[in-house]
Amino acid sequence: MMSDHYVKVKVQLEQMKSFGKEDAEKNEEEEEEEGVDAEKQTSMSSPPPALVSPDPPSITTADRDASNTSITCKHRGGKSRGGKNSSGKHNITDLALHGSGKKSNRLGGHERTLHIRGTGKILQGKSENNGNYVTIHPSKNIQETCREDVFKHARKRRPVTVDTAKAKTSLEALKLSIKQLKWKEFPLGRRAPCDIYWHGVSFHDNENIASGQVNKFPGMIEMLRKINMSRAVRTMQELFPDEYDFYPRSWILPEEYQQFATQIRMVKENDATVNPTFIVKPDSGSQGDGIYLIRDPSDLKLMGGSQAKQSVVQEYIHKPLLIDKLKFDIRLYVLLKSMEPLEIYIAKEGLTRFCTEPYQEPSQKNLSHVFMHLTNYSLNVHSCNFVHSDSQSTGSKRTLSSVLYRLAAKGVDIKKVWSDIIALVIKTIIAVVPELRVYYQADIPPGKPGPTCFQILGFDILLMKNLKPVLLEVNSNPSMRIEHEQEVAPGVFEYVPSPVDEEVKVGVIRDTLRLMDPFSRKSSISQPKAGGFEHREEIPMEAETQEKSPDDGALPSLCLKQVYPKYTKQFNHLRLVERIAALFIRFLGVKGNMRLGPTAFRTFIRTCKLSNSNFTMASVDILYIDITRRWSGAMP
Ligand code: ADP
Repeated sequence: MMSDHYVKVKVQLEQMKSFGKEDAEKNEEEEEEEGVDAEKQTSMSSPPPALVSPDPPSITTADRDASNTSITCKHRGGKSRGGKNSSGKHNITDLALHGSGKKSNRLGGHERTLHIRGTGKILQGKSENNGNYVTIHPSKNIQETCREDVFKHARKRRPVTVDTAKAKTSLEALKLSIKQLKWKEFPLGRRAPCDIYWHGVSFHDNENIASGQVNKFPGMIEMLRKINMSRAVRTMQELFPDEYDFYPRSWILPEEYQQFATQIRMVKENDATVNPTFIVKPDSGSQGDGIYLIRDPSDLKLMGGSQAKQSVVQEYIHKPLLIDKLKFDIRLYVLLKSMEPLEIYIAKEGLTRFCTEPYQEPSQKNLSHVFMHLTNYSLNVHSCNFVHSDSQSTGSKRTLSSVLYRLAAKGVDIKKVWSDIIALVIKTIIAVVPELRVYYQADIPPGKPGPTCFQILGFDILLMKNLKPVLLEVNSNPSMRIEHEQEVAPGVFEYVPSPVDEEVKVGVIRDTLRLMDPFSRKSSISQPKAGGFEHREEIPMEAETQEKSPDDGALPSLCLKQVYPKYTKQFNHLRLVERIAALFIRFLGVKGNMRLGPTAFRTFIRTCKLSNSNFTMASVDILYIDITRRWSGAMP
């Protein structure tokens, strides 16, 4: 709730915005040079779009004078853990000023003193001239009122309880997030139910959860394996070829070996100058394991021992966008907040992972150079060229925003890039949701008590030289580690804190928890009506406004941005297969089944009044056999 003082301060800040705008704009540039990518950013014409909302231009922040803190502004990140300032007091004044930081500072994760350049007299309280800056001290009343508000808020409800016993490698980031939210952690689990269960791997990490929320969907691991994922996207490519052109052409091995070999032969026969490259990925592999490049189908390693290897062979994107001559990819965190109704959020900040050997287009000579072609952190960290950096804009792992700033400085239309990425994410989720719904009802049939689910997904995206984003894969279990491996002595690796990972991942986990807060007011999202979807906004090409956070005014604004149902309008028509899945589920017969048996299939045809004299029940049975045979290799 806003106190009178809060309102006053807000009004005064508004007045200051117009008053000292010019000065403050200059200040922003100076700050960026200090804090982020000093090399390029002063020449940037506009900030990246959805990444961060523009902050009030008249307010700048500085790291100096921590002891002199008067108005503190807590940004997401680990440095201000527990919401305390350097003297150990809670930064209750955050409440009044949350969200008013500077672009570069949102990445810094530090508590900052707010300095208002040249215009301090407008704010209440004592002002202090400090060289170029004026530090504003709020009156004691503001602090007291805010403190009362915080306590009132805290008294209202019991803390949200989180079972972290199965969190595995996300534990560190999760602990920091829970601490920032002042929620209650149960590191060893709890006999009584918890509000939230945080699993490190799968929905089934804890069995028999009857209530609350789990951070994994049943079936997500299976659905996002390379073969199933390729198949789901291909179904959509067949239905909507123009909309699903962001996924490289793929063949499933061994079953599509013949098609692959024939198609490649035909391409080469048609044009002898064409010599495409392909990347082969084992179905259940991760972190670049078992991946290799080929230029001819005869180079495929089809057998793994006595068994045919399940894998995907994919067109290799041979003209990626390079930075510093290096190939890189984007790791974007996406929250599937709910499947029914579909709610998707995208993290405004992500990571970029760089190769460690300068890129050259594939040739027979360099096909095996993994540090040139594969961006996996887990591989490149072992290269002697890997650069660990605490800065977010240098090194082999950088923040997405630092890369986008840099591209913007070169004149790239990053608003377009960002809106293409949003579209790619929504379309990919729409492709996997139909089967995911089948998995979901098998584990949590309607009527059976069970938890609800949400999940953070890791999208790996490559930007092509022409800036078109390409989907490489989606990880059901993206690494949430906030330490990185470092070689402390020759051959000896240790985990050391990684500020870049911490900055991004703690923000994602904390804000996911905030969105899943069982006590927060129901979000303002209107639920789609049964049988229909609402028409909503189109993806704007303009910078976004600040995302509103639910209830908790003391925290920074959400780093997760809702994209669905917000942009329902453009994507609604793609949800066709999902409706077919809903029919399929309805006719499954016995709840908890994944397969539609022959009898249930007959019932389905009969109920839908699809049979007639030309389409007899005998033909229905033949159709059933035909369909199941066609899918037998694909479905569990
Ligand atoms: P994994 O799960 O083993 O990491 P990925 O599909 O993410 O498998 O591929 C590993 C790496 O290979 C990617 O990070 C990317 O650098 C590169 N890569 C994957 N697919 C392609 C492709 N089609 N074109 C170009 N590079 C690719």
